[in-house]
Amino acid sequence: MAANKKLLVVPGDGIGPEVMHEVRRVIDWMDRRRHVSFDLAEALCGGIAIDTHGTPITDAAMAQAMAADAVLFGAVGGPKWEKLPFDQRPEAGILRLRKDMDLFANLRPATVLDALIDASTLRPEIVRGLDVMIVRELTGGIYFGEPRGITTLPDGQRKGINTEVYTTNEIRRVAAVAFELARKRRGKVHSVEKANVMESGLLWREEVTKLHAESYQDVELQHMYADNCAMQLVRNPKQFDVIVTGNLFGDILSDCAAMLTGSLGMLPSASLGAPDASGRRRALYEPVHGSAPDIAGKGIANPLAMMLSFSMMLRYSFDMDEDAKLIEAAVQKVLAGGLRTADIMQPGMAKVSTQVMGEAIVRELDKLAA
Ligand code: NAD
Repeated sequence: MAANKKLLVVPGDGIGPEVMHEVRRVIDWMDRRRHVSFDLAEALCGGIAIDTHGTPITDAAMAQAMAADAVLFGAVGGPKWEKLPFDQRPEAGILRLRKDMDLFANLRPATVLDALIDASTLRPEIVRGLDVMIVRELTGGIYFGEPRGITTLPDGQRKGINTEVYTTNEIRRVAAVAFELARKRRGKVHSVEKANVMESGLLWREEVTKLHAESYQDVELQHMYADNCAMQLVRNPKQFDVIVTGNLFGDILSDCAAMLTGSLGMLPSASLGAPDASGRRRALYEPVHGSAPDIAGKGIANPLAMMLSFSMMLRYSFDMDEDAKLIEAAVQKVLAGGLRTADIMQPGMAKVSTQVMGEAIVRELDKLAA
């Protein structure tokens, strides 16, 4: 098969390169066994780019990311660069990637694997089989709205201001992503805001309702207030399929949903941009966790969040659902077989290194594809 899938790999700092190394095994495996070949390039971002080029991401690396079909990102940051001003720190690299690629839809799945059911703080019957997708609007809302800032009032008090702003287009494009996803899943979208107390929430509700009536009547739509959604996520999370919400509520609700699964080392994410004329979307896939400087270089990081980010990439950027499922099945099997990295270690299981976990996934893929 022709190498028509342009993939930019950005390992980053700390455990980023360690977990990316294990994904490279899977990419090689796909090349060998599934005849899927990626046109692979690698770029620096974060602390390593600061050390090498004096900037968290070069214009050349940015151009590579813009031209790629998908970016696979590890993690950036670490104590070595913590004293730099904000705009020169490693994290400025990932922020620029997200901003310049206009990645407005952040997808965070919360899936509870049977083998890790005890890692959740909730009772097994509440979370068994849980599979929720949170779609968070990522480039608008209160984190970017103007006016913002801190001013001093005539009486000497200080006032802090942030502004929640959403426009029709911002709401419609992220809602469309949620509806499209629901079509490929269980056909249900919960749209979450505070229309009872916020005008921006009311607009959100009206625009989502309109879009649904125009183009997505085959999908079930329910509206929910954000405070109720937080409560329902903990009370009965399995009622949800896809949740779509703004930047602020999404930030909070996606962390809450993630923790239903119990483990940072297992959580993947995708960030998508708008489709161009040919239907291609800019996209970046990364684990939810950071560069974990406390365990970097020890060979003990869990590579599965990175692995599952790669499988999201196969599904959402390359329409390779079957291959994505194969990787997810391999992860399930390896965990069911009792292998655990330190972060998800349980009594009676075998504690393994990053590398052994990566090798076990490839062995399992061999078996599944035999
Ligand atoms: P972190 O996610 O790096 O680590 C939090 C805790 O979880 C640590 O104890 C770590 O050892 C553990 N952990 C995380 N991922 C793990 C894995 N795959 N396997 C095993 N254990 C894992 O968050 P932090 O400590 O708050 O941040 C560390 C650095 O990462 C900071 O510089 C921060 O700015 C950066 N960061 C980067 C990103 C990103 O690149 N997108 C995201 C979050 C944090």
